[in-house]
Amino acid sequence: MLVVHKYGGTSVGDVERIENVTNRVAKARELGHDIVVVVSAMSGETNKLIGYAEHFTKEPAKREMDMLLSSGERVTAALLSIALQARGYDAVSMTGRQAGIVTDNTHTYARIESIDPTAMHSAIKDGKIVIVAGFQGINKNGSVTTLGRGGSDLSAVALAGALEADQCEIYSDVDGIYTTDPRIEPNAKKLDTISYDEMLELSSLGAKVLQNRSVELAKKLNVRLYAKSSFSDNEGTLIAKESSNMEAVLVSGIVLDKNQARVTLRGVSDRPGIAAEIFTKLAEANINVDMIIQNTGTDGSTNLGFTVPHSDHENAKAVMKTFDDDMEGMDFDENVCKVSVVGVGMKSHSGVAATAFTVMAKNDINIQMISTSEIKVSMVIDEKYGELAIRTLHAAYELDK
Ligand code: ADP
Ligand code: ASP
Ligand code: MG
Repeated sequence: MLVVHKYGGTSVGDVERIENVTNRVAKARELGHDIVVVVSAMSGETNKLIGYAEHFTKEPAKREMDMLLSSGERVTAALLSIALQARGYDAVSMTGRQAGIVTDNTHTYARIESIDPTAMHSAIKDGKIVIVAGFQGINKNGSVTTLGRGGSDLSAVALAGALEADQCEIYSDVDGIYTTDPRIEPNAKKLDTISYDEMLELSSLGAKVLQNRSVELAKKLNVRLYAKSSFSDNEGTLIAKESSNMEAVLVSGIVLDKNQARVTLRGVSDRPGIAAEIFTKLAEANINVDMIIQNTGTDGSTNLGFTVPHSDHENAKAVMKTFDDDMEGMDFDENVCKVSVVGVGMKSHSGVAATAFTVMAKNDINIQMISTSEIKVSMVIDEKYGELAIRTLHAAYELDK
């Protein structure tokens, strides 16, 4: 059996923890498995490197950022290989490039275009444990690229797909996918299985336990994906195709995303083309717009609101200034968050949204924006109520039962 393990930052946070990972990999090896291990940078390392760059400029060149940030993962890959060799295991570390990962040119948020697994296959054939530095590849010009924050999850799933591995196990500091972040709600329940679509929705809405692109790719390539803990031997959560008994569950999870800022445009001239102009400008500036709300116009003008990640907030402000003449005024609010309720069962049940709004009302929390899809309801609220909202929604849908 060929398995891909991925160990996140907390799991390789210091040499003792790398020792712990060494034991886990050795154990899997003793079971007779072929193993490819993907590692993250030690926890805090990527942020520390970003801080160093920002000492010099707020807008460092993205190519150089990739050169810088990819080094964190290389350190852990080499250390884990050294640790395994010290224990008598044959191991070899590889950068993304050595593992054959080729991406497009989007520095700091590159997409994987192809993987040539030849080098990994031949190392495995020679009986080696292969350790790959996560979060990175190279583009066609030979420059190092990185895959976006949390991107080692994507490296692991992509390698599992390219190697046709039997399964991909993502190890972090939680032993699976819970009904909500167990750090916010200690009564959160671990799920045995969750569908790719629900997991994708949870990840995309801000549950960072799995990077959203990695879930999307796992679904596409049908990778058998597990979320497990590197600190226990508990059964993890299997992320798989939707099965009929999953549909019986009305709500499977609640997500809090604090990385949101709200922009409100007041008295926007209500004419065809205005939304196209605004959102084209934002897209050209590479600003990720999330929720969008527009009212029916009255007296030739309308209100338009949208949210962006914190990191894009200043940029969005600058872009919106160019529309000064098209509106009465604009407000910016960084102190908002998004809470979302997710479940495939919503497809066939009504009342899920009404319950969410009632919970907010009972707690005197004002809902600033709402958006829904077939399997989710999201609300933008004041950031200070985020955790309270998560806990009361969790109880209202009886997810703690
Ligand atoms: P790693 O550093 O190993 O990549 P992350 O910090 O990215 O790990 O992800 C693990 C964290 O995800 C947990 O510590 C937990 O706080 C958070 N999390 C958010 N939502 C959930 C959820 N629904 N289930 C489990 N963990 C969650
Ligand atoms: N080290 C990178 C990050 O912090 C990638 C990862 O850990 O997955 O985003
Ligand atoms: Mg992560």
